[in-house]
Amino acid sequence: MGDNSAIEWTNATWNPTTGCTKISSGCKNCYAERLSPKLKRWGIKKYENNFEFTQHEKELELPLKWKKSKKIFVNSMSDLFHEKAEFGFIERSFMTMFTANWHTYQILTKRPDKMAEFSKTFYELFRFPIPPHIWMGTSIEDNASLHRINDLRHVKCYNRFISFEPLLEKLKNVNLKNIDWVIIGGESGPKYRAMEEEWAWDLIKQCKKQKVKIFFKQWGGPRPKSGGKTIRGKTFEQFPKLKILKTIHQKRFDKLKNSLDELRNKNQDITKKDKISQIIKI
Ligand code: SF4
Repeated sequence: MGDNSAIEWTNATWNPTTGCTKISSGCKNCYAERLSPKLKRWGIKKYENNFEFTQHEKELELPLKWKKSKKIFVNSMSDLFHEKAEFGFIERSFMTMFTANWHTYQILTKRPDKMAEFSKTFYELFRFPIPPHIWMGTSIEDNASLHRINDLRHVKCYNRFISFEPLLEKLKNVNLKNIDWVIIGGESGPKYRAMEEEWAWDLIKQCKKQKVKIFFKQWGGPRPKSGGKTIRGKTFEQFPKLKILKTIHQKRFDKLKNSLDELRNKNQDITKKDKISQIIKI
């Protein structure tokens, strides 16, 4: 976690959870798995459980302390929708994101089915989708993981994105309907699996055809910047157009945010409530 991320498409990271479990071939050389033991050795308390999935109550309020607007990557060291993540904890992470709505949040998961389930429960409670300042995304690395796009499409939200990183093979017939943004990148690290130009270029063509914004992040290699980020003489650093809340959703969002602000003004810690949804009626 830190407020100065080296990730190309974001400028801060926030890790309310740490640790994870490998779920597919994209996880083989997981960066978070490699880094966690080092952080543990350096005595960073948050990593005392090494790479075991852990929720950190104390981290929940961090974005509220960053007064300047940032693009925040949520969970660079974990997966917020991990099997062991409690819905109550996920909900409280979202309450922070609603309160500190001067930031943009990018949430990336390899478990978009759980993300969709959460968004459905959220919608039933508050009757508006995840608002546009929170971008909901999934990672896809090969044809076997393409099914995650369908799960992502079921997430009730305004902005959806896909990270095709590490891209491990040529992807066939990628349906990008209702997807706003795509990140493409090769793997980096000591055991990186090289990305072929044809795989990346073909995917760029599929995105262009379906009018989806593209961010070509890196070729990958031993270090993230080893191969640069130019492909066939071009760079792609596009971002999606920001959407605004529909009036009806804006009203409901404002009501929720006002209730949260009120609780905070009374010095009640919004992130400590077990079932925040039960005390806020909108
Ligand atoms: S889902 Fe992400 S954080 Fe979890 S093991 Fe896979 S690559 Fe690592």
